[in-house]
Amino acid sequence: LYNQMQDLKGNIRVYCRVRPLVGQPNNPGIIRNVEEDSISLIMASKNGKEVKKTFTFNKVFGPSATQGEVFSDTQPLIRSVLDGFNVCIFAYGQTGSGKTHTMSGPNNLTEETVGVNYRALRDLFYLSEQRKETIHYDISVQMLEIYNEQVRDLLMTETSNKRLEIRNSSHNNGINVPDANLVPVSSTADVLNLMNLGQKNRAVSATAMNDRSSRSHSCLTVHVQGRELTSGNSLRGCIHLVDLAGSERVDKSEVIGDRLKEAQHINKSLSALGDVIASLAQKQSHVPYRNSKLTQLLQDSLGGQAKTLMFVHISPEPEALGESISTLKFAERVSTI
Ligand code: ADP
Ligand code: MG
Repeated sequence: LYNQMQDLKGNIRVYCRVRPLVGQPNNPGIIRNVEEDSISLIMASKNGKEVKKTFTFNKVFGPSATQGEVFSDTQPLIRSVLDGFNVCIFAYGQTGSGKTHTMSGPNNLTEETVGVNYRALRDLFYLSEQRKETIHYDISVQMLEIYNEQVRDLLMTETSNKRLEIRNSSHNNGINVPDANLVPVSSTADVLNLMNLGQKNRAVSATAMNDRSSRSHSCLTVHVQGRELTSGNSLRGCIHLVDLAGSERVDKSEVIGDRLKEAQHINKSLSALGDVIASLAQKQSHVPYRNSKLTQLLQDSLGGQAKTLMFVHISPEPEALGESISTLKFAERVSTI
């Protein structure tokens, strides 16, 4: 049933989320007319009149949308994983636009503020429990980081900078990074512990390079294996929850060395992701998965029967206009509307 619902809506959808203006929740900034599926931005002011541009998406969440509201539209997608589908959920946007807020939540987590990651796993546990008379599910997670086109394990128990290889998952039970820790989970407490470990491992490398989190992609993957108790038939699904590196353009004349290299890698992988989703949206026969580690990692979960959800984030500050416009243009390109 969930899948029938999803099929009606297509396999790629794009949701836009605008965060509140920091410290001024009632100030709309450059945002006007947030509707169910469209958003208008003030591009300029001429003779006291505002010049607006409107963008249309599958769904738009304004500054006052709660974490619960944002998740409720995502729920059917997550449930399809238990029926054997693969799903990717991305958070895209410039640094500071609210990607981590959507996926993980703010620093001081409460029941209300937890993000998509935690809610998704809570839902998976809840549903698998409901179905336990007919299907037995095993749920396990991996947490990876892609930085400068290298894949690292965020669930390693001791510090290691081992680079991981991406392999063809069909030989390995749907696991395409077999050398990364794969941790069985059975409760939301397990999940919170793992997310904390992942955060910590990310922070370790950040001391050397100050807020690396905005310049790397992090991917929490939930693998689900189900076995039907009567028939013995098995199924497999997974969901990738991806907090992408900041999409802001870096002025190449202003950065050198490591920062330039980082910027080039981010640029390359975000355009590769855009190219893959756009070619799927346009139903092209060739999908260029090989152009980045990110798209190689997610290949089995992008296209085919898999379902993709992109949350694009924009900041309402006037200074963010340029980046917001490029974010919305990226979003339009990968959208099927
Ligand atoms: P990003 O991960 O894109 O760099 P963050 O998620 O860290 O951005 O958000 C930047 C700041 O804005 C954080 O302090 C975060 O808590 C806050 N923030 C982001 N989105 C929202 C929101 N929808 N409501 C309230 N605060 C938000
Ligand atoms: Mg972040």
